Amino acid sequence: MLKVEHVTKYYGDFLAVDDLSFEVKPGEIFGLLGVNGAGKTTTFRMIMGLLDMSSGSITLDGKPIDYDVTDQIGFLTEERSLLTKMTVKEQCLFYGTLKGMSKEKILSRLDELLARFEISEYKDKKIKELSKGNQQKVQFITAIINDPRLLILDEPFSGLDPFNVELFKREIVEMSQKGSMIIFSSHRMEHVELFCKKLVILLHGKTVLKGDLKKIKQDYRKKTILIKGDVTKEEIEKIDGVVEVIEKADELEVKIANMDVSEKVFHKISKKKDITKFVVEEPSLNEIFIEKVGESYEK
Ligand code: ATP
Repeated sequence: MLKVEHVTKYYGDFLAVDDLSFEVKPGEIFGLLGVNGAGKTTTFRMIMGLLDMSSGSITLDGKPIDYDVTDQIGFLTEERSLLTKMTVKEQCLFYGTLKGMSKEKILSRLDELLARFEISEYKDKKIKELSKGNQQKVQFITAIINDPRLLILDEPFSGLDPFNVELFKREIVEMSQKGSMIIFSSHRMEHVELFCKKLVILLHGKTVLKGDLKKIKQDYRKKTILIKGDVTKEEIEKIDGVVEVIEKADELEVKIANMDVSEKVFHKISKKKDITKFVVEEPSLNEIFIEKVGESYEK
């Protein structure tokens, strides 16, 4: 298990990460989220042992992360770190060797991964000759060449088309099912929502929201009701506790302050004959993120 406990990082006088704690168990995909400058990269670098923390502790399976365990970690950085004059094979040999793998092991694993990512024909091509999406695949292959127990993915889908996003997703889920611990960071909340059961949201280094995504959604008071049928925006807007009504192509999206309001809305439309849909939806992570981060921004 990865344990981050009360970690704080100062750059000089500047507090970049403030008392951060979370855990990632084998098989879990954990979301580390935040707006630009929130402290994510700083946290990743501390986990990787590339940056000293000011206080706190980070352990993998009870041991501090040092040179001995870095070969069990894979890191896909947001800023691309490919050695573009090398061929795909040379680059993987370079990183695989750094992770303590034998040449035979690297080459067999590379063949397997190139086939899985459908780029076997690029093995001896220079990285600079590849498209952005294929460079991203090579970057990902490099990060997982050592079949890491702990994998850190910072914006892994950048530059990928929807088909390749699916390919990456499949690979990430498979790795977690095999027992890897995965930390996933992205500004795309719909991606985070697909994978992460637990998450933390940082703002200016401080934790503004943390926990189980399902529970966070249940506890979030504001809900959305979708109504289809013969009812007007104006009728619903009049109900006390209705925050906003948005007219969609063939339905109304009603934002309510809390679950009690849904009963009032239901009562209103239950008198009508031709309502074909009434669904109370959980909020999206995007909505929660914007509200939580927005609230704290204003403090
Ligand atoms: P982004 O999403 O933009 O990549 P981030 O969440 O990864 O942002 P960090 O790069 O960890 O954020 O930066 C956190 C804060 O620490 C920022 O205010 C940044 O300016 C500051 N910072 C980062 N590195 C240094 C450094 N070497 N010296 C001083 N301040 C730094």
